[in-house]
Amino acid sequence: GSLPGWEQVEAHVVDAHERYLPRTEGAVADYIPALAAADPDLFGISVAEVSGSVHAVGAADTAFSIQSISKAFVYALVSDALGHDVVRERVGVNNTGLSFNSVIAIELNDGHPMNPMVNAGALATTALVPGATPAEQWERIRAGLSRFAGRQLELDGEVYHSEMLTNQRNKAIARLLESYGRIDLDPLDVVDTYTRQCSLNVTARDIAVMGATLADGGVNPVTGERVVSPQVCRDTLSVLAATGMYERSGEWLFEIGLPAKSGVSGGIVAVAPGKGAIGTFSPRLDSAGNSVRGQHATAYLSRTLGLNVFASA
Ligand code: GLU
Repeated sequence: GSLPGWEQVEAHVVDAHERYLPRTEGAVADYIPALAAADPDLFGISVAEVSGSVHAVGAADTAFSIQSISKAFVYALVSDALGHDVVRERVGVNNTGLSFNSVIAIELNDGHPMNPMVNAGALATTALVPGATPAEQWERIRAGLSRFAGRQLELDGEVYHSEMLTNQRNKAIARLLESYGRIDLDPLDVVDTYTRQCSLNVTARDIAVMGATLADGGVNPVTGERVVSPQVCRDTLSVLAATGMYERSGEWLFEIGLPAKSGVSGGIVAVAPGKGAIGTFSPRLDSAGNSVRGQHATAYLSRTLGLNVFASA
């Protein structure tokens, strides 16, 4: 089936916002000092349809740093440039069952980064972005993510600097990958580029359009521009289904039935292939790092809009 008509989708988005706005459980991430300053009360929801219609309620146009949601789209760009097999071999597609910044997962797997949605695999993926210099790689990432969003995305300099002062762990992960021959470039340059990619500012509306581009076989439904191939969308969505929601990826798929990616700044994008995507933003997180309101709102919309990919009717 397809999405219900515009009016109905709009009504469900409005409902989801009203229902879950009172929920105040969870806590804003503070391991990156600049993130601790986020307004915990912000809550925005956007749904972008493959038709190009976009719904937006609440703080759907408030900027936040994309953080780990960038991993999904950089992975798509690298897959598009290098192909299915290279990325599968170099980065992997299996869940680690461990936290996103685990060093143990690398050690347990002979230095293999495991998948592109944990930091080790994301660093290995960013290292594969085409470009002769880190500056060229960064420009390629920014331009690529901007094509997914359909507008020019900008760096949040404060978040970037704040994270660069406190990301010793990511630097250690990059060095460890280097020691196993899994990163060919200067590992600290890769961490710098990765930290920039995580510091790009987006809105709930942006991530909904980015997700809808994956739902639409790689064509941005708002601008009409082809960003990646349909094969890359399938690859990316299957990786998100297996690994996109930290250690709760299995529970998420079981309850909500949509490939999705979350980030520590409070964003979640969930993709309904062939239909559209839901983008939510609310900074209070649960213990796994997933936005509390975002999970509730996405679950509600998956149910009311009939989006679960495993449902036969
Ligand atoms: N830049 C963050 C980090 O690497 C992203 C974490 C996340 O959103 O999961 O720690």
